[in-house]
Amino acid sequence: MFPSTFDYFAPKTVEETIGLLQRFGYDGKILAGGQSLLPMMKLRVAMPAALIDINHVDDLHGWKEEDGYLRIGALTRHADLEKESALIERYPLLSKTAEWIADPQVRNRGTICGSLVHADPGSDWGAAMIAMRAEVEVVGPSGVKRVPIDEFFVDTFTTSLDMDEIASAVLLPAPVGKVGARYMKLERKAGDFAIIGVAANVIKAYDGTILDAGFGLCACGDIPLRAEQAEQYLIGRQLDDETIEQASRLAQQSARPATDLRGTAEYKLDLLRVFIKRALQEIAAELK
Ligand SMILES: Cc1cc2nc3c(=O)[nH]c(=O)nc-3n(C[C@H](O)[C@H](O)[C@H](O)COP(=O)(O)OP(=O)(O)OC[C@H]3O[C@@H](n4cnc5c(N)ncnc54)[C@H](O)[C@@H]3O)c2cc1C
Repeated sequence: MFPSTFDYFAPKTVEETIGLLQRFGYDGKILAGGQSLLPMMKLRVAMPAALIDINHVDDLHGWKEEDGYLRIGALTRHADLEKESALIERYPLLSKTAEWIADPQVRNRGTICGSLVHADPGSDWGAAMIAMRAEVEVVGPSGVKRVPIDEFFVDTFTTSLDMDEIASAVLLPAPVGKVGARYMKLERKAGDFAIIGVAANVIKAYDGTILDAGFGLCACGDIPLRAEQAEQYLIGRQLDDETIEQASRLAQQSARPATDLRGTAEYKLDLLRVFIKRALQEIAAELK
């Protein structure tokens, strides 16, 4: 299929980008990696009158640590974080998630922010960012603000972004303590979206107790979800067989998977329990 016709703009600054968004309103669409937008345009699910290509906006490239956060610019591709050795010790969930996204072609082009804005409930980054308690940096006509990831996802394919706002970066709080993480995903075939996926990010204090536990659930509801009861239960406890078992059962209470061609809701819920249990067992062994 061919997309319908559109005008093309390549702004060089964020301000110019916002000006174009204001000019075109809902008829204007930002183009980042194009890995979700272009398939939708080819299917004519999306028919924007104007494509606003942000790839030439220098300020949106790269990542850096500043003011207690890791700031990942909007044009950071999945592949940029896949083997980034400088981030593996403190932010292990980044590489562990990136390697599960699609195939090398999609990973080399698609961006993390684009994935978050697309807001597919089956987005692996959605779950990972929930587990890492990310904030999305949003720029609009009235300036810059930070939106906690739990408030960013509003509904399937819908975020809290206004039509004249851009997600300029995603911010991860720098961990204080030892970090262990796992991304677990079951897919029908290599490179597919998840039947379900689970992101686990655990920060251990030096006395051995859990300072923070983050669990993001992928393909378990209308939006990426947080397994909050399991998180709250683990904080202040040690990771042992009993707490791991209890947390994995509590995580099921936050999930609302649908029965579909990929499996029944009961099957997915059990998978979720097994994934959280395995993830925590592996993290416990690693953080010993
Ligand atoms: C074959 C294939 C397999 C895939 N498999 C997986 C998978 O296994 N797991 C997974 O999680 N995803 C998967 N995806 C989805 C893909 O990884 C992401 O959705 C994609 O990378 C989105 O990023 P992008 O930069 O390509 O966004 P684009 O396609 O350019 O844009 C997506 C949407 O976000 C908007 N947008 C983009 N960036 C911004 C911004 N900075 N600010 C405001 N709006 C913005 C666009 O206007 C558009 O509406 C797959 C995609 C394909 C094509």
